[in-house]
Amino acid sequence: MKVLVTGGAGFIGSRYTRLLLGDRLPGHTGDRVTVLDKLTYAGHRDNLPLAHPRLRFVHGDVCDARLLRDLLPGHDAVLHFAAESHVDRSVRSGAAFVHTNVLGTQTVLEAARAAKVARVVHVSTDEVYGSIDTGRWTEEWPLAPNSPYAASKAGADLIARSYWRTHGLDVCVTRCSNNYGPRQHPEKLIPLFVTNLLEGLPVPLYGDGRNVREWLHVDDHCRALQLVLDSGVAGEVYNVGGGDGTTNRDLTMRLLELVGAEASMIRQVADRKGHDRRYAMDDRKIRRDLGYAPQVPLGRGLAETVAWYRDRPDWWKPLKHRPPATTRKEAGHD
Ligand code: NAD
Repeated sequence: MKVLVTGGAGFIGSRYTRLLLGDRLPGHTGDRVTVLDKLTYAGHRDNLPLAHPRLRFVHGDVCDARLLRDLLPGHDAVLHFAAESHVDRSVRSGAAFVHTNVLGTQTVLEAARAAKVARVVHVSTDEVYGSIDTGRWTEEWPLAPNSPYAASKAGADLIARSYWRTHGLDVCVTRCSNNYGPRQHPEKLIPLFVTNLLEGLPVPLYGDGRNVREWLHVDDHCRALQLVLDSGVAGEVYNVGGGDGTTNRDLTMRLLELVGAEASMIRQVADRKGHDRRYAMDDRKIRRDLGYAPQVPLGRGLAETVAWYRDRPDWWKPLKHRPPATTRKEAGHD
């Protein structure tokens, strides 16, 4: 199989690419991968095994229709990860989110249609559902996104649906909970807190710290994506959950313990505007229909992730200590 991975130089896309090229996704030994990535502040060539004989890297924009039209023929599938992904940035300025996440998705889908690509997986997020006080979201839950990031992803999900319904494009949408693991940009909560603590700096906890997120190891997300690519039903949405529902405060306490820091390192900061209180997914559909089951318990996954950041200051320090316009050190969640 030959797969186009958009956004493959970012956190999840690069992990997916590495797993695929490492023959660690069952039934896909020998698959070839093309990564298309614009290399924004969030994308890095060195996230990828560039010398791998089955990898081709293309530096480009998913909004570039001509590029996609030339690139896509010959590919069997598209895994569409490319996006602006940081909620705090979308609160400060939403334009790039609408451009890349909505127009970029439409451009990818249109090119996939023209090239008769057999299957597209659009990688979305649970944040499209908004916030839920009790219970769990099923895939039928109404979309009620609260941040410009989540709204742009919801828009993209609906565009994907329209390409299936109108054009018969074989596209599935996945909605996953919060991911963590190696190579996540240090603006996001877990790497921000871990790297701050490793540098002896305090950690900025939004509001009362009671916001609940389901943390899923990136490898479990990648395995779910492969199941959807292989066996998902066109036009369907699949929630990908199974992470542990944890308050930000409890998560912070676990990170403090893993790094060996005191609770006095927590600094409560003003809450994010429109901050979603609780995310909780009902993922019975992907478990029942596709046999998905997460494999990495939070305790082990967090310990391994903290160890990775401890070992790889060469990876995160240059990103974290860029000028403030590209990475804020003082706050960052999701
Ligand atoms: P990321 O920010 O780490 O990576 C995004 C990648 O997309 C980067 O390599 C960036 O250079 C690239 N990119 C951005 N704009 C582009 C453009 N116009 N053209 C081509 N490439 C472009 O993001 P991530 O955390 O790896 O998330 C990947 C996808 O998974 C996103 O669609 C996100 O919405 C979704 N998702 C993320 C999470 C999470 O917790 N991180 C959870 C659920 C879903």
